[in-house]
Amino acid sequence: HAKRNGHAFSCFDADMDRQVADRVNLENDLRHALADGQFSLAFQPKVDFHKGCIVGAEALIRWRHPERGQVSPALFIPVAERAGLIGAIDDWVLGQACDQMAQWRAMGLDIPAISVNLSPAQFHDGRLKDKVKAALARAHLPTHLLELEITETMMASDVDRAIEILSQLTALGIKVSLDDFGTGYSSLAYLKLFPVSALKIDRTFVDDLPDDAKDGAIIASVVALARNLGFAVIAEGVETQGQADFLAEQGCAVMQGYLFSRPVDADAFAHLLAHGLPG
Ligand code: C2E
Ligand code: CA
Ligand code: CA
Ligand code: CA
Repeated sequence: HAKRNGHAFSCFDADMDRQVADRVNLENDLRHALADGQFSLAFQPKVDFHKGCIVGAEALIRWRHPERGQVSPALFIPVAERAGLIGAIDDWVLGQACDQMAQWRAMGLDIPAISVNLSPAQFHDGRLKDKVKAALARAHLPTHLLELEITETMMASDVDRAIEILSQLTALGIKVSLDDFGTGYSSLAYLKLFPVSALKIDRTFVDDLPDDAKDGAIIASVVALARNLGFAVIAEGVETQGQADFLAEQGCAVMQGYLFSRPVDADAFAHLLAHGLPG
């Protein structure tokens, strides 16, 4: 069918070629990015809605490509995973987050816990616990200042093993939250066994608040579930006052999103810590 129009066919072909070439290029460029210092971390505050203060932050990787400019982690993290480059990037993120916290403390700032996103490979790497300990020790940080975010999907392949890994981390005093909660397939039976401290409600449930009644019902249910199981709860992707008011009314007081702050660089985050959120 595609051959009927020779032109369309070659277009399609060229498109495929370009996509493959794009990925290969990105992959090659990723190989140099670490050594060239093209990565940085951005920090997005987690906010107590009632007090208006910063109670934590999430570290998010940024890649400034020399020609393309900023490349989204949603685009390059999967490429890094396929190319076997994720391990080095993961190690960098963990080390950099801890070193940055140490720098802020050296400036005399009182910092909240900073959470780091774990990749599936990192979660299942038997050396994770030791790497976390080493990164904390090198930066002379108390354990409670580092938190980790994992997704439900990482737990799915081998639940017993996942619980074991989580137990090792919590034994160190590290808090772990379940990111993108509600989009994976964690069964409630397992949820009660996971030693995690917080559920992070995915942005897709927040987007259409307060108008979408079904999303509203899901939020109310997750907040109740979290409360009854002893998890903290946090909402991500909060962009409007209407969303924030609805969430607060439902009992979800900790929020993260553009309404409060975009992810910002280390200096700007230090400024937020010292002077508070604007407004
Ligand atoms: P995530 O962990 O769910 O991170 C939240 C994403 O939502 C971030 O995108 C953040 O910038 C964005 N966001 C925050 N507030 C709002 C809002 O109010 N509205 C909207 N529309 N978006 C908001 P980002 O930084 O592009 O990261 C995308 C994903 O890439 C992350 O999703 C995470 O899965 C992954 N990622 C980012 N940094 C790292 C990292 O250091 N390591 C690993 N393994 N993955 C990372
Ligand atoms: Ca996250
Ligand atoms: Ca998330
Ligand atoms: Ca996400």
